[in-house]
Amino acid sequence: MRTPLPILLALVSALPLAAQQSIAAPNPNLERMTNGTYSRSHDYDLVHQRIALRDFNWDSTSFVGQVATTLVSRRAGLDSLILDAGGGLSIRSATAASGAALRTSHTRDTLVVYLPKPVGAGDTVRFTLDYDAHIKSGSGLTFIDQRPHTPRQLWSQGEDMNNHDWFPTYDFPNDKMTWEVDATVPAGYLAVSNGALTEETPGPGGTHTFHWNESRPSATYLVSLIVEPLAEVKDSWHDVPVDYYVYHADSALAWRLFHVTPDMIDVYSKLTGIPYPWQKYAQTTVADFFGGMENVSATTLVDWLPDSKAYADRPWYQYILIPHELAHQWFGDYVTTENWANTWLNEGFAEFMPGQYWKEKSGAHLEQDYYADEYRQFMGIEARRPMPLASMGSNNIYPKGALVLEMLEDYLGPQRFWAAAHRYLTDHAFGVATTDDLLKSFEASTGEKLDWFWREWMYSTGYPAFTVTSSYDAAAHTLTLVAAQTQRDSLKADSTGMRYVIPEMFTMPVTIRVGTAAGDVVKKAQIAERVDTIVVGGVASAPTMVVFDDGNHILKSLDFDQPTAWLANQLQHDPNLWDREWVLAELAHRPGDAAAAAAVANAATSADYFETRMLAASALSAFPADVAIPALTRALADTSAQVRAAAAAELGKVHDARAAELAHKAWNSDTSYSVRAAALGAIAQLDPAGRAAVIATGLSTPSYRDDIQNAALVAIARSNDTTFVAAVQALVGDQPLPARVLGAFAARGNSHALGLLTADLEDSRAWVRQWTLQALSGLPVAQRLSVLQAAEPKLTHADTRAAVERLIAALEARR
Ligand SMILES: [Zn+2]
Repeated sequence: MRTPLPILLALVSALPLAAQQSIAAPNPNLERMTNGTYSRSHDYDLVHQRIALRDFNWDSTSFVGQVATTLVSRRAGLDSLILDAGGGLSIRSATAASGAALRTSHTRDTLVVYLPKPVGAGDTVRFTLDYDAHIKSGSGLTFIDQRPHTPRQLWSQGEDMNNHDWFPTYDFPNDKMTWEVDATVPAGYLAVSNGALTEETPGPGGTHTFHWNESRPSATYLVSLIVEPLAEVKDSWHDVPVDYYVYHADSALAWRLFHVTPDMIDVYSKLTGIPYPWQKYAQTTVADFFGGMENVSATTLVDWLPDSKAYADRPWYQYILIPHELAHQWFGDYVTTENWANTWLNEGFAEFMPGQYWKEKSGAHLEQDYYADEYRQFMGIEARRPMPLASMGSNNIYPKGALVLEMLEDYLGPQRFWAAAHRYLTDHAFGVATTDDLLKSFEASTGEKLDWFWREWMYSTGYPAFTVTSSYDAAAHTLTLVAAQTQRDSLKADSTGMRYVIPEMFTMPVTIRVGTAAGDVVKKAQIAERVDTIVVGGVASAPTMVVFDDGNHILKSLDFDQPTAWLANQLQHDPNLWDREWVLAELAHRPGDAAAAAAVANAATSADYFETRMLAASALSAFPADVAIPALTRALADTSAQVRAAAAAELGKVHDARAAELAHKAWNSDTSYSVRAAALGAIAQLDPAGRAAVIATGLSTPSYRDDIQNAALVAIARSNDTTFVAAVQALVGDQPLPARVLGAFAARGNSHALGLLTADLEDSRAWVRQWTLQALSGLPVAQRLSVLQAAEPKLTHADTRAAVERLIAALEARR
């Protein structure tokens, strides 16, 4: 699973953010608990399900279902079977293989099927359930009505435990099965599911039944179904079909976006030593999706296909999303977490793998660039709440998982790392695993005890926060470093008694690089104490640069006060991107230092990799305008749109008349969406007289994922410019953000915006009513409650009225 970063939401601090959910764990013994306690017990082995669905109704969000189940009893005297089945499933009948009717009872999400007589251990049981499903759209299945650029469709989402809301099953990952999905769909629609398409049968009235067969076992949360009018674009990897299913209107955009897939399959197959393990690979785009979901052999993806201009901005979709979900076909689908406290085994590897792909394709800089981005995310999450990778509800499994695995790969070297990863995939092929299982495979493969690494990085939280000082002894030709770890194990237990541990000492090998007039001196050492002293000998002349942890092999923070000359030298000569980013942050704290300004300006305009130029451009406003403006002028002509966008955004912070002029120039002439969006934001900050005209143009400028329109909406919300209320209202049918801007205005007391929002609850378009309800969540609770109570009696759309009634009840309960 993967969601994009909420970049836009972070910008729009005035607008409401979705609440973060976290699950607390009850047991303080994390290492023991993670590996077993969270797994679920059951007394049968689920073997196979044939899931047949028909008569989909988008108005009543309903369908008719039949599920035939095969399972094997795992104990003597088994007389009843406990399945998970959502409350929206009304069981019409249960029938044994013999044809005999079976008794059932259904309470909340639990369905009990009573067998005619007890069966013994190892006995096979077959039975069929017929049911009517009335789905609360969004739990298990999401039904979407047609709207502009979005065909009518439905899609499933199982992870973590929502598939039982649309078919009765064992809804936990520690039991794998094979399955078939038969879906009968209206004329013009396709049904996409897992495994091979074995049959397509025409029915009455143009209906079609698609028969999919997933013949290799996987977890039930990975069962998936999408029903939509779709265009199919065919590709392949050797003899494995690789299919892209997109809206007909998007069919010309599919190849450029998705055709990277066979090459990614190739690289992942070679790295893991496991050729792509499924019958086919499909990627299907749907509306209102949170990002991507790795349903086995049939990934579901959001419908944000980039147009040709958007590729200049390195779309997240191709850079991260496609390789992330593909990686899950090995890590998550082929070997699956045994329970939800080990989900990092799925997500950490899936987030790690794209960096490995990009290294294969483009080398070390793109690899470091990828993980530097993960590092920024990691630090942001870590600052909110440090949680171990292996813990229930861990908040940091994506970036920290990627970074810890990258560190492990560094530590072991690629050959040993991939041999061990192959061992792990082989030991648990088509099965499940825990964090401890990963350790066992790595130890068995490498022959090296790695429990210390697991204890520090998987079962504990935090990271080493180094404070380093150095002193040079000219007579002895030595440089002495004192590296102190300053992190403190100060976390408190939560309300359940769970307390996570931050190690006060992390152990790792470290390399020191000392630059001198006569060349670099390199020293390897072992971090083994909370305060370590490392003496580097053979430093014949005064250092010109000192790099602690050369190559950035340790996940860390670093506090190391150095002369500007050292930093400037390192910025020019250190190939590592994390190191350069660290240096840039140090230099940006020296606004009055001409040498620092010159080093940053030089990096912004001539560093050998765009990420360094981009980050340097983003640091320029710290320095005097006479340094910043010439460097930003050059950066705005960079070949990389990321550098130009960073420069355009930075202009907004430079208080100089030339900045506004440059921003207007970028807005008027740049071809990149992200550069124009950034320039619009800068103009809104720099040019009170000229901004309204640019914002008005921005509102009606089409761009990928509404990048430019969103920049205009953010500028309106930030400047609190209520003259745009009517223009914003005109966009409420196009995308969700306009309603949220109205919500921000209403929360600040603007009655015009509030009146429009209230009226939008009666809009004839269901999606507008839905987005309006979401936007109202930005209002303070008391205001929201009174708005909803006033609106409720007049609402004529049943869906909105029901949703409003639920909201009122929930808000009243909170008071
Ligand atoms: Zn994922």
